[in-house]
Amino acid sequence: MAANLSFASLADLLGRVFEANRMSPKNAKILAEVVIAAERDQAFSHGLFRVPGYIRTLRSGWVDGRAEPKITDMAPGAIATDAMNGFAQIALAASRDLLQEKAQRQGIAALAIRNSHHFAALWADVEPFAEAGFIALAFVNGRERMALWGAPRKLIGTNPMAFACPRRGAPPMVWDQASSVTALGEVLMAAKDGHAIAEGLVIDRDGRPTTDPNAMLHGGSMLPFGGHKGSAIAVMIEILAAGLTGGRFGFEDESAKVPGAETTNAGETIILISPAHFSTADFADRVERLFFHLSAGGVARLPGERRRAARLRAEQHGIVIDEATHRYLHSLLAPLDPDHQPTS
Ligand code: NDP
Repeated sequence: MAANLSFASLADLLGRVFEANRMSPKNAKILAEVVIAAERDQAFSHGLFRVPGYIRTLRSGWVDGRAEPKITDMAPGAIATDAMNGFAQIALAASRDLLQEKAQRQGIAALAIRNSHHFAALWADVEPFAEAGFIALAFVNGRERMALWGAPRKLIGTNPMAFACPRRGAPPMVWDQASSVTALGEVLMAAKDGHAIAEGLVIDRDGRPTTDPNAMLHGGSMLPFGGHKGSAIAVMIEILAAGLTGGRFGFEDESAKVPGAETTNAGETIILISPAHFSTADFADRVERLFFHLSAGGVARLPGERRRAARLRAEQHGIVIDEATHRYLHSLLAPLDPDHQPTS
């Protein structure tokens, strides 16, 4: 039977699951809240659906669930954080206050995270900054999964980026998207549920278009959105998230050598802008004028509004979890097999 659980109780349960699977309590709490926020907002491809992948990766030893990030204050507007082979969200949480302080002082500041694993939705990284009054941009790279325009084989990650803008009297406008036509999570979910995917999203190992998710997953490639335009954006993200940070490029990924490893050791860059530093005009008024214009012109909804609506429903009625998922989460609370050996 399905149960309706509050954000707090589900995040607590998942936090305990992560703790039982090689994460420190502090890191487990941060990551659990990111995953449950995705479930709450019905961003299902990065919610509880991802838990088996997190667990397999943690148990493999490929990612360090107890990592303590090392923050280096590089310049008045620049921070470099080594995630120490941990999750990017832990490094971001550790760097957040300094990043905001710098952006508040300088008008703009950037955080370059390297040696990090990102397996989640990106909006969670930028939305809190916009709630605090900043424009925020985030860029993440990952292992090779996507072809580029004119080169029909895996060359680059499905590199996502996110943008968040504060608003007056309304939640921030937040968009978050992969560089591929569709996110890998959608292909994984289709494979799990045994259904075909739409045409034009992926190619098989021979570079032929296919609607079979398994043909993509076994040697095929995702396709960039917008042809050459999405290709260029994916390359820009690779440069910002890995080139700039010193993190690994997708083609340098070594996860395939570690059984169970599903995340990429890569990088993330986050840029914060304090609007008040750039113009004497009232930014919030101007942005509201823009959104009014878009709405009057027929734009039915802004990015992020579907998630916000789901969030409101979850806040009123709880997050719906089916019995099998609930049982599965509880099964992960058992201590690890003492004979289990990490593979790296
Ligand atoms: P989608 O195409 O589902 O959505 C992209 C954006 O468009 C969202 O902000 C969404 O808002 C908005 N949107 C969708 N439909 C409309 C509409 N009709 N009108 C206005 N706005 C709309 O995202 P992707 O499939 O590209 O990516 C899914 C997730 O995968 C992302 O969260 C991304 O961060 C994640 N990802 C993570 C990776 C990683 O390495 N960690 C790698 C690649 C992807 P809304 O949410 O409100 O619908």
